[in-house]
Amino acid sequence: MLDKIEGVEIFRNVCLKDFTTFRIGGNVDKFVRIYSEEGLRDFIKFCYSEGIDFFLLGGGSNVLIRDGRIDDFIVVKLEGEFRSVKFSGDGEWGRVFVGAGYSLPAFSKVMLNYLLEGAEFCIGIPGSVGGGVVMNAGAHGNELKDIVSNVFCFSRNGEKIVFSKDEISFSYRDSSLKGYIVTFVEFRLRGGIKEKIKERINEYLMYRSSTQPRGFSAGSVFKNPENTNAWKLIREVGLAGYRIGDVMFSEKHSNFIVNLGNGKAEDVLELIKIARKRVFESFGITFEPEIKLVGLSLEE
Ligand SMILES: Cc1cc2nc3c(=O)[nH]c(=O)nc-3n(C[C@H](O)[C@H](O)[C@H](O)COP(=O)(O)OP(=O)(O)OC[C@H]3O[C@@H](n4cnc5c(N)ncnc54)[C@H](O)[C@@H]3O)c2cc1C
Repeated sequence: MLDKIEGVEIFRNVCLKDFTTFRIGGNVDKFVRIYSEEGLRDFIKFCYSEGIDFFLLGGGSNVLIRDGRIDDFIVVKLEGEFRSVKFSGDGEWGRVFVGAGYSLPAFSKVMLNYLLEGAEFCIGIPGSVGGGVVMNAGAHGNELKDIVSNVFCFSRNGEKIVFSKDEISFSYRDSSLKGYIVTFVEFRLRGGIKEKIKERINEYLMYRSSTQPRGFSAGSVFKNPENTNAWKLIREVGLAGYRIGDVMFSEKHSNFIVNLGNGKAEDVLELIKIARKRVFESFGITFEPEIKLVGLSLEE
């Protein structure tokens, strides 16, 4: 039984709105917080043997989760030891072992304290280290693949696997880690000068506040197609500022959909479908969503 597994805590009827940056999501019957690696292994093995589906939620900053009651999968959050950072220096370089549940902006700030450079770009990405590495999150010309050295995971049947950077295939907002459960990530970062690192962090924060809307969103909705920007195409097909219910394409950054307060997942999905249709009709480009649809489908 799930509630007998050590290091695993079960909560019933949890509102997922409170766990996503979109502030959208239904009520899940079982929400599980897992605090230890052994607990996670036992949980995965249990689900595998019983045929139970689960969804791993990181910072909830890149997901659109359906509304209503959710009883067809369990939602899992990594806590406890998955929110730790351990540092070891090796001369001019530092090795940092970070739990998958640790936040990317907090990681960026801690690296500043260790006087290590290379993680500054994570300051404005409101996800977790685990979600970030799976998505190969990036900004300002950098991606997580540039600083990762090893990724520690479980497979869906509970087997522990360590991938070195060379064994992972990273691409634009994607990686071969999809399908695995990332537990820890080891980064290798070069020593730097505090003022310079701080300056870059401040510069990135200022850039974000001048280019991105405030409020509830999941960041960029679509991946940038080759040689163009998704926000430009959305603007060109007349959708900047276009609203359905309480959700709209932002005027400030038209590849962001913002929830004005009472946004519904179905309305966001409708906006996504409209943009895909118009962009395909106007430019022959198939827009690929960057956000993960959970319990929702683009098929009619
Ligand atoms: C305001 C705003 C700005 C943003 N800016 C950027 C940006 O500049 N660059 C960028 O790349 N992204 C950006 N994003 C998107 C988002 O923050 C990133 O994609 C982030 O990496 C998602 O991480 P997460 O932990 O929130 O993942 P979630 O949204 O929780 O999940 C996303 C996917 O990752 C999986 N996942 C989560 N944790 C794990 C794990 N431990 N192991 C395996 N799979 C896991 C989930 O199952 C899901 O499939 C932005 C989002 C917002 C809201």
